[in-house]
Amino acid sequence: MPPSLTRVFRGVLPILALLGAVLAIPDHRGVRIDTEGFAAAPQHLPNDPKVAPATAAAGEIELGTPEGTSVAISGWFVHLANPAIDNYAIHVNGQEVATGTSPAERIDIEAAYGQAGRAFAATITVPADQTSEICVFIGPESDLLGCDRAAPQDWLGVLITPKGVMVEIVAVRANGYRVVTPCGNKATVADGQRVRTTQILIDPGHGGSEVASVGPNGLGEKALNLDVAKRAAKALEGRGYSVQLTRTTDVRLPIPTRAALANALKPDLFLSLHHNGGATGRQNYPGTQVYYQHDDPEARRASGILYEELFAAASEFPTAWVGNSKDGVSTRLNARGTDFYGIHRRTPEVTSIITEFLWLSNAAEARLLARDDVKDAEAEAMAKGIDRWYRSSHKGSGYLPEFVDTFDSGGGGFENCVDPAL
Ligand SMILES: [Zn+2]
Repeated sequence: MPPSLTRVFRGVLPILALLGAVLAIPDHRGVRIDTEGFAAAPQHLPNDPKVAPATAAAGEIELGTPEGTSVAISGWFVHLANPAIDNYAIHVNGQEVATGTSPAERIDIEAAYGQAGRAFAATITVPADQTSEICVFIGPESDLLGCDRAAPQDWLGVLITPKGVMVEIVAVRANGYRVVTPCGNKATVADGQRVRTTQILIDPGHGGSEVASVGPNGLGEKALNLDVAKRAAKALEGRGYSVQLTRTTDVRLPIPTRAALANALKPDLFLSLHHNGGATGRQNYPGTQVYYQHDDPEARRASGILYEELFAAASEFPTAWVGNSKDGVSTRLNARGTDFYGIHRRTPEVTSIITEFLWLSNAAEARLLARDDVKDAEAEAMAKGIDRWYRSSHKGSGYLPEFVDTFDSGGGGFENCVDPAL
């Protein structure tokens, strides 16, 4: 279960990082601080309302690759209310495992914040057999600096292939990674970027031969989903979260494959991003639906918060809305009383939700969804909602009764699946 916690940004100033690493910038007290191996100063100030609200703590956490049960953690921090604060505490899954003080100051951070950042580094112990939530707190009030996730060393995770396709790793061999392709076949891929875990996994619905809804203006749901997912990932990364996408190109991913990727990454939140089609009646408010896993209270809460943000974002663009009785937050069950949607049913260990923002089948809404400002507003609403889910215990709203609906419109399976080049 994800904690209601935050991590502050990860924005970087690559030039400062380079300078810091190369020059080992001396600070104003004449103490030389070697910044190599530490993260760079952030691009945005913490009180920039476009990025995040002002907080007591700002900084960055960098996790190394687990070696057995040990993980190296390093980073820097500033305490915005009290520059003298130099102590930190590291928690693993809610238990304090290390404390320390950081007298080392970094003037590259001072350039961004007006006060020197303090570097820290430690090696901590994590459970060997499970994914761990690692959080850093600073100062006497234990202000949260941020959190990240570490997977066990032997956790296989996923591979992002040289062609940019995310695939589940089932074995690591001398000649490369043994993976499961989107269509469920086995293949060996020599190299790629291995990702063990992430905080947020966004799943842009449909893709490839699975076209899904098309608006009266010709806007296709599969391309729209991907476009907004990329914007949402960027907005979340700007707030400091680690994010991955199940697809970054126009490939088809059957539902079991999407669920397998979520199970392989074990994110805090798995969000399948869609836009609706087929609504019937006119209504005087924007129609948006969010579906949650029926037995996960955190999926329900995340859905209620996201619904509030998405509804508010859409309301800024008044038009001739349409909708149906499922506009709101609900959970859809099959005849057995378990989750109807495979995205939920196949990921019992992962908090998962589905968003359906507006009705692409309605000409007026399809025109909105073609606009950059509307797509940015949707993406920003998602980032804001997820951030609020992490940071707060807000309950969300828009809840409707759960319902049973066994009608299957088809698609999402392996039929006629053609694997992309890896
Ligand atoms: Zn869809």
